[in-house]
Formats: sequence, C-alpha cells, structure tokens
Amino acid sequence: MKPADIAEFYRRLADRLPEPQTELDYVNDYTLLVAVVLSAQATDAGVNAATRDLFAAVTTPEQMLALGEEGLKRHIRTIGLFNTKAKNVIALSRALIEEHGGRVPADFEALRSLPGVGRKTANVVMNSAFGAETFAVDTHVFRVANRTGLAPGKKPEQVEARLDAVTPPPYRRHAHHWLILHGRYVCKARKPECWRCVVRDLCRYQPKTPPPAESGE
Ligand code: SF4
Repeated sequence: MKPADIAEFYRRLADRLPEPQTELDYVNDYTLLVAVVLSAQATDAGVNAATRDLFAAVTTPEQMLALGEEGLKRHIRTIGLFNTKAKNVIALSRALIEEHGGRVPADFEALRSLPGVGRKTANVVMNSAFGAETFAVDTHVFRVANRTGLAPGKKPEQVEARLDAVTPPPYRRHAHHWLILHGRYVCKARKPECWRCVVRDLCRYQPKTPPPAESGE
C-alpha cells in the first residue's frame, strides 16, 4: 500500500472511533496485565465475565498471592487453559513483588521477562497502560494487515515491524486498536464484510465479498 493510502486507511478507521479502548475490563495497570494474560486464546467477553468478581476482590499482586493458585482457578475456570494461566498469574505476581516493588514496570523487556507474558501482551500493556506507540499483533491485526496489504508478513513479528515502519505519527498510538476492532467486527476471519467496509477501495483483498442478499445467504 502506498503511504498516502495508508494514511487514508487509518484516517477512515480513526474517523469512526477517535479514541478506541481495549474491550477488556480492568481497574489498574496490574489488573490490565492479568486480563491480557488471561485473554490468550479466549474472547474478551469471556475474560470479562470471569474477572468481574475477581477484580472486585483482587487488584494488587499481594492480594493475588493471598488468594492463591487454587482460589484463582475458581474464578477463571471458564477460560481456556486456565490451569496454566493461573500458574503464570501467580508467578508473575510474585515476580512483580520481588523484582519491581509490586508495580507493573513501564519497560517492554521487563514485562517480557515475566511468566506468561509474550510480545503481544507486553505491547498491549505498554500501549494501554503507559501510552507507548506499540503494535500488538493478535490474530485480528495479523489477518487485517495481511489481507489489506497494509503490513504483510508471514509471522507476527514481521507484521509488527512493518506496522511500526509504515504507520504515520498521528495514528501510531491507536493503530492496533483500530485494526483489532476492524478485524473483529468487519474484516472477520471466515467472511470479511467487504460490502460495508470503509476501506474497501484501499484494500487489495479480492474478490470483495458481496452483501448476503447477493451471495444468496
Ligand atoms: S475490503 Fe474486505 S478484506 Fe478488505 S479490509 Fe475491508 S472487509 Fe477486510
């Protein structure tokens, strides 16, 4: 995609939602980190349903250790991979207390070194908690970046680097949110809804999907 088209692509997504937010519920940096760790291979709605009661009682690493792994599992057993995630949340809470004074570090590499925290999670926390211009590549961002030709790449790290290289300044802070939401609600995995897409003339995906009536659905 040409630089002018990339700017126009973001301008249109931004126009629809100037201040996008994560759809995960959280009350502080720590609960954001926990929610993002829990969200791997799970829906935000499913994580929110599980954390509603959890975050009413637990908002610090110290409180999480007091709750303990079995107590945490009781809250999150509706979420996929909850056994592993419970272990990781307890371990990362301990690491925050022992290595970071109980606070979530505003540092990508420090976040990455925490149990259960990968590039995507560290990027989400840096962006949403600390305002960093990071590009978290989840399944939606990966798909939209490749389909449209905005930032093609075979691996998430390649797409992340490409987004970093091509995304112009006014849009860098919120780019990944706009791409997630576009992928979740319009450029869907199984069948993109091209007929109602605001960037269809800029996107290289072919053939564009027609409205359901025209496709016989
Ligand atoms: S035109 Fe279709 S494939 Fe392209 S971004 Fe829009 S919904 Fe996705």
